Amino acid sequence: MIDHEVRAGQLWPVLVALAKDRQITTYGKAAVAIGIHHRPLRYALGPIQDYCLGAGLPPLTSLVVSKSSGVQGAGYLGSPGDRGVIEEVWKFDWSSIENPFSDMHIAELDRTAKEILEDPDKADSYAVILSRGNGQRVFRRGVYGAYNGECCVCGLTFSDALEAAHIMPWVMGRGSLRIDPRNGLLMCANHHRLFDSNWFTISDDYLVEYSDPGEESGPYSSADRSTSIEHHGRKIRLPGNEKLWPDKSLLAARRADSQ
Ligand SMILES: [Zn+2]
Repeated sequence: MIDHEVRAGQLWPVLVALAKDRQITTYGKAAVAIGIHHRPLRYALGPIQDYCLGAGLPPLTSLVVSKSSGVQGAGYLGSPGDRGVIEEVWKFDWSSIENPFSDMHIAELDRTAKEILEDPDKADSYAVILSRGNGQRVFRRGVYGAYNGECCVCGLTFSDALEAAHIMPWVMGRGSLRIDPRNGLLMCANHHRLFDSNWFTISDDYLVEYSDPGEESGPYSSADRSTSIEHHGRKIRLPGNEKLWPDKSLLAARRADSQ
């Protein structure tokens, strides 16, 4: 997850130079420019896209298009082929913004996330982070650190497959709730999807409550079962620091929402 930001930091100046020259590029060429294969390029584009969205900037990643189709590919959140958006990116004065993925910025975010983990009630740090568009990045770091890099449901530790899930979704959470690690759960991609589609919720006692323990919506493969039913009634892995445990009122609101 952090490697992606390092790559984003290498890609940022490449994209800014393209914008200045009113150019676009292909996934293949952008990958070559930072010395990686084109497949993992999306992992470098992702953080840049998130950053531009969060900070209200034109989508810098719109400058990278597929060689075959000539438009932005899967993973791009805007409308592919919209020339007006590219025009906006070209017009924007990118020299007014420092590379948000420079070593210095990454170190600063690491430090902020650590401060929040030590004192999650430190409300003033939240406001500063949000005003700079770094909410999502700090939230991810905080939740990852709180849960020690393990899916809270199954214990998976592949960092590339782990995601910081919001209990109260980002769009509904206001202000500090978007960053507060107590509004977060570290989950593998599978459990995050199942949680977000309300296949399971988490009780006040931090037990997994799977919605179909009797296999009524089956048939279940053994992989389905081991990912879902087998966790029913089990306690999730909680942060070592009790101050960072999920907020019970948020869990209850989420359960009410899933009915
Ligand atoms: Zn999992």
